Amino acid sequence: MALIIQKFGGTSVANPERINDVAERIARYHKSGHQIIAVVSAMSGETNKLIGLADEMMQNPDPRELDMVISTGEQITAGLTALSLIDKGIQAKSYTGHQLGITTDSSFGKARIMDIDTKILKKDLKQGFVVVVAGFQGLDKVGNITTLGRGGSDTTAVAIAAAIKADECQIYTDVDGIYTTDPRVVPEARKLNSITFEEMLEMASLGSKVLQTRSVECAGKFKVPIRVLSSFDIKGDGTVITFEEDKKMENPIISGIAFNRDEAEVSVRGVPDTPGVAYQILGPIADANIDVDMIIQNVGESGATDFTFTVHKRDLKETMDILNEKVKAKINAREIMGDSKVAKLSLVGVGMRTHAGIASKMFKVLSDEKININTISTSEIKISVILEEANLDNAVKALHKAFELEKG
Ligand code: ASP
Ligand code: MG
Repeated sequence: MALIIQKFGGTSVANPERINDVAERIARYHKSGHQIIAVVSAMSGETNKLIGLADEMMQNPDPRELDMVISTGEQITAGLTALSLIDKGIQAKSYTGHQLGITTDSSFGKARIMDIDTKILKKDLKQGFVVVVAGFQGLDKVGNITTLGRGGSDTTAVAIAAAIKADECQIYTDVDGIYTTDPRVVPEARKLNSITFEEMLEMASLGSKVLQTRSVECAGKFKVPIRVLSSFDIKGDGTVITFEEDKKMENPIISGIAFNRDEAEVSVRGVPDTPGVAYQILGPIADANIDVDMIIQNVGESGATDFTFTVHKRDLKETMDILNEKVKAKINAREIMGDSKVAKLSLVGVGMRTHAGIASKMFKVLSDEKININTISTSEIKISVILEEANLDNAVKALHKAFELEKG
């Protein structure tokens, strides 16, 4: 007998038939002797619909009230899933995050889980109930309903798994696992049987949308074993997220190629090379709460530097305004450039730590394809480049082939 958390995403509970299918699956596991806590998302499209309703009431809705509204989607699917289970003869009880004692901080719309009280969960499991939990939500210390950010039900599931020391946290979604890259771009992309937690963290934060990044961070911190599976196929072992010390894992040099089209590139040209310049450029950007991703600085022969960084596309205009109005004259920069027609591509693999020449091979492949690289940055287990968005698909295809990711 194992204690299993099963999380079902929006497409898995999109309508009554699918909720019935989900309940069937939970019932099967339960009947074979496992204890199950199911965490559900809102029906797909529901959270967007609720945000739309809030927008109709007020421009930039008040964050506390917005969370009040958008937390309701999950409550509905939790109740419906429990009803379907009861109808199948399974004892089941559903709870909202607040009923269960999921305590968060007070950052509405992106709250962090501080504590989960496992008393109710343990009592119900002991009595043979399947517990169904509304994902994506909690309660702050003073009793406000909060939500955990888009995709936050993943984090609810992982956090519960950590708190109750579950044997496995299964994330059911509309794909059957984690792929070497997006199969819509590279049809030969291969499902991975396993991926290390660090690689998954990179893949998630670099744009692979299968898991919320914070859920992966949480899994890493508490060593929660996660398995990503399709809710539409009964067989299939999905992809297991392992920890590096696990000797059984497959260990290719490169595990995958992540990309995203959400970033824009900003360049501050001809900046005098003096101490404090980086701070003078990025300070006002940080003050405006704009996240900066890649940062590159280079000193040219003239002693002037070019300072380049990336921000989310939606923040490009504000970033340019800040630089033009508050920074340019102050630091005596020659010009400020912004480009939103770029994309970021990253090669990810723990094997990079021990294998030389990955970067040069990557750059050769791109050069053979006549694809220009604007910006490069690396970490121990990834190499990221910014290139023209129009070249992204070709670059992903060529690299996937060159690194033989389809072979495994
Ligand atoms: N329903 C929320 C969303 O659409 C949370 C989730 O599905 O994980 O983002
Ligand atoms: Mg999701």
